[in-house]
Amino acid sequence: MAFPEKCPLCGEESEKHKVVTRHVYGDKDHSRAFYHCPECDVRYLHPTLTPEEEAQFYASEFGGFMAARTGVSGGWEGAESHVRANESARIRRSKYLSSHILKGASILEVGCSSGFMLFPLIDEGHACTGIEPSGMFCEYLRNRRLVVYPSLEDFKENEPDRKFDIILHFFVLEHITTPLAFLESQIDLLNDGGKIIFEIPNVADPLYSIYDIPEFERFYWSIAHPWYFSEASLKYLLDRLCMPYEILLDQRYDLSNHMTWARDGKPGGMGRYTEMLGSSIEEMYKQALIKNRRCDTLIAVISKGKESNR
Ligand SMILES: [Zn+2]
Repeated sequence: MAFPEKCPLCGEESEKHKVVTRHVYGDKDHSRAFYHCPECDVRYLHPTLTPEEEAQFYASEFGGFMAARTGVSGGWEGAESHVRANESARIRRSKYLSSHILKGASILEVGCSSGFMLFPLIDEGHACTGIEPSGMFCEYLRNRRLVVYPSLEDFKENEPDRKFDIILHFFVLEHITTPLAFLESQIDLLNDGGKIIFEIPNVADPLYSIYDIPEFERFYWSIAHPWYFSEASLKYLLDRLCMPYEILLDQRYDLSNHMTWARDGKPGGMGRYTEMLGSSIEEMYKQALIKNRRCDTLIAVISKGKESNR
């Protein structure tokens, strides 16, 4: 197995880098591993997919890959069910988004999938545009009259002067091999005072960092992710932008999901025991994980041309 020469995020020589895991979900020939860079704290995949392998993966395998990872409740079998399956995610995000999205804001979502985040924002009077490369929900999005482009490049070609107040992406950045360039290209698309708001997995996921469930380890580290960020490595990345930002923590998966992992070694189980436990227990559990900084989600808010509200 080829050992990396240096950290692909900070450039630090890789002599001190340790293997995090050789269990890479989706790595058919078992030729890859994840490494940890102690300098910037990022976990990174090596070797990464070649551009050809990456194109092939997203063109032909991604839908089935996500369906296998999320199970039927993920709703990848249809657009309507995908919208329904993600309603709780939308509500969770709305809680922190609402203070940033001002009346009549123009919004771009990169990786809008079935459009479940954007349709309610359109109903509230915001001008929304989507970027979605997969084509999986293409017809559905067109039927619901959402303007969607297959890539940022395609969007820029068609609407070269268009700027936005808000750019959103959820669980996209960890798929991007050049995350700094990805964010910089979005800053160019922001109006002054505009914001980029995104979510990524937090490598301090409690199923890994507290419970250390072996089946979860085999599931978590995915070939679709060149990176796994911690608070420290996300800070390293965002510092390179020289823009004010803040990092927020959140917990997506509930106690029922964690109990199912511990019992069955499988994903799923969201809400399974909530009726018995009471929703206040679920909420207290999530808040305890967030307080201890062992939670599954990182949120970044980057501001252009205005002081951060930290
Ligand atoms: Zn590094």
